[in-house]
Amino acid sequence: MSSGQSPSDNPPAVLTIDLDALRANYRLLAKTASGARCAAAVKADGYGMGMIAVSRALAGAGCDCFFVENPGEGVALRAALPDATIYIVKGYYCDGPEVFLHHALRPVLVTAGQVAGWLEVIAAQGPLPSILKVNTGMNRLGLDETDTRALAADDSAMKSLSPDYLMSHLAFSEDPDHPMNNQQRRKFDELRSLFPGLPATLAGSGGVMMGSEYHYDMVRPGVGLYGGNPFSGRPNPFAEVAHLEGKILQLREIDSGDSVGYGATHRASGPARIAIVGVGYSDGYGRGFDNRGTGILNGIKVPVVGRVSMGSVAVDVSECPTGSIAVGDYLTLLGHGISLDAASGASGRSPYELLTSLSQCTGRRYVGQAEGV
Ligand SMILES: *Cc1c(COP(=O)(O)O)cnc(C)c1O
Repeated sequence: MSSGQSPSDNPPAVLTIDLDALRANYRLLAKTASGARCAAAVKADGYGMGMIAVSRALAGAGCDCFFVENPGEGVALRAALPDATIYIVKGYYCDGPEVFLHHALRPVLVTAGQVAGWLEVIAAQGPLPSILKVNTGMNRLGLDETDTRALAADDSAMKSLSPDYLMSHLAFSEDPDHPMNNQQRRKFDELRSLFPGLPATLAGSGGVMMGSEYHYDMVRPGVGLYGGNPFSGRPNPFAEVAHLEGKILQLREIDSGDSVGYGATHRASGPARIAIVGVGYSDGYGRGFDNRGTGILNGIKVPVVGRVSMGSVAVDVSECPTGSIAVGDYLTLLGHGISLDAASGASGRSPYELLTSLSQCTGRRYVGQAEGV
């Protein structure tokens, strides 16, 4: 190591996050849903891209409303963005309201019990904002229809609650032609009619791209912001945000019949050159890539061989001309020629899983103009 250089200047695993691409994706989504407010889902550490950096960049692009999973994330985000609207999608499940009150967090109320609990808080504290989430067929979080109708009929409860939005979530937005989307939208409209004048929100990234009838008053895209394709088997309209690279730590020649890695799941069919790259499943490059991943080195596609280890992966670089590669070179494992869709197809993991796993990557850096930060 040369003097003045710390090991972190040159880490074995590097995730580069393109904030310009992130902002371009936000603008595309906001423009597509131009009649609606465009919020951003930044839960799961900003889908693995770093919640704070991502949220600041989005705020710089005009986003003023963020969805996170739990109050802990909300507290961290509040410290970075004092003026943003922050919704907690798991809702008011805590023992007490203090964290919501002290950090101006707004729950997405998802059960009748949560609504009752939040109404008690309002009775003690005065008016407090929230979202009311109803089930329209996904059967995940959300008030069921009976509870929704009972609440809608309770004028005094609705007057106290006075939620910001009525919300639901699509179960099949990965396929815009699936009839379930229309069914859920019709059920949503039916339930919406019980709450005259209440603004509404239904769409994540897929819903945004499905047409204006899904946009209502606010949209809440996540995966598309980070370059993930909301639709399976169709072209991806979004710009690539994540680029994962690993450093070659060792090069070795092996002979026909030699095995590589744990469990000896790969055997060379002839003499081969193997690069050991410093990215493993502890960096978010998961076991789904065992014998199925692809790297790119100097523009040449090279296969992952054997099992992915905790901190390294083996790649057969026999195709690369001798002398063209060396220990210390970086090899691409995701992005820059390996699309999230291709990696998803190879590994059997959804783009969502691939992205969020990358939150574990030890060497994270950002590129792009950080406007408004
Ligand atoms: C995660 C999430 C979204 C974002 O969905 P994408 O498919 O990633 O765009 C929207 N709404 C809610 C409630 C979510 O939890």
